[in-house]
Amino acid sequence: MILVFKANATKEDVANAEVRLRGIGLEPHTLVGVERTVIAAIGDERKTSPEQLSSFSGVENVLPILAPYKLASKELSATTSVFEIGGALSPAGNDSTAVSFGGNKIPFIAGPCSVEGRSQILEIAHAVKEAGATALRAGAFKPRTSPYQFQGLAEEGLQYLAEARAATGLPIVTEVLTPADVPLVAKYADCLQIGTRNMQNFLLLKACGTVKTPVLLKRGMSATLEEYLLAAEYILTGGNKRVMLCERGIRTFESYVRNTFALAIVPALKEKTHLPVLADPSHGTGVRSLVPAMTKASIACGADGILIEVHPNPEKALTDGAQSLSVKDFAKLIKECRAIAEAVGRTV
Ligand code: PEP
Ligand code: MN
Repeated sequence: MILVFKANATKEDVANAEVRLRGIGLEPHTLVGVERTVIAAIGDERKTSPEQLSSFSGVENVLPILAPYKLASKELSATTSVFEIGGALSPAGNDSTAVSFGGNKIPFIAGPCSVEGRSQILEIAHAVKEAGATALRAGAFKPRTSPYQFQGLAEEGLQYLAEARAATGLPIVTEVLTPADVPLVAKYADCLQIGTRNMQNFLLLKACGTVKTPVLLKRGMSATLEEYLLAAEYILTGGNKRVMLCERGIRTFESYVRNTFALAIVPALKEKTHLPVLADPSHGTGVRSLVPAMTKASIACGADGILIEVHPNPEKALTDGAQSLSVKDFAKLIKECRAIAEAVGRTV
């Protein structure tokens, strides 16, 4: 059930409603909007009625949430949620510049697929920043198809990422693979990435719901839109409200690309959810030459951010070199994206 408060409702009205909802056995999830506050009351609705909830002081309207995903639903908030990663309040430390997601400006989270070493990550962090990226990506824990492939540098990689953040001010987005690793990765990361292979790892989703670090949840490579939003719901119900989504391509019969970049899900998600929706044209295509065009397409169709692989020397990359841009190509692409963003009323 959604409780919509009157524009002139007070903080006390909201606080009292939260206490009363808990008393009934419903969990209040409060969203303070610019115009008005709403509370999503989650739990067994048989314990109450719309009439009872309407009688709470300051409440204007009570509506059922019809979507199977409640907290992710657009029924809860008609406008895109805006939140920051990094900055002074980041759980990982205060040495980065905050980046806002869900607003008019489209952030670029750029960097190599993996942290390969100290000098590699420091070099690329400076280079992507110089080119216009506002956050740094790179995996220290890598989910690899073969156990014989490079698995990432683990905590050593996280330490290099923290060093790169201190040197550049770029907040860090990095993948966490297991629930047990969440506290360790959250110690270093400004945003936890959950990869496509883990989109329905429910224990990992729950573990990421209990921390204060924002989460970038990638779409499972065979997940439907509804399964995807229900996965996000696992994180949201845990109390972590800062969740962003990211289309990264799905598995189809097609083989001229690594994945089929299903960009229609970007506007489709934006019809269904208030969570920011990003796009990852690197994994979405797997082919370097296709990445620039699909980055522009992502912006044109409404993506709230871009996750993109850039490597100092793509031919030598330990992972995903074939889809990684060189710094020069990335710098050129960001410039070209400015015109596309402007055409759809946004900025890069
Ligand atoms: C990555 O971002 O490098 C990655 C492993 O992504 P995905 O989970 O989309 O394959
Ligand atoms: Mn990768």
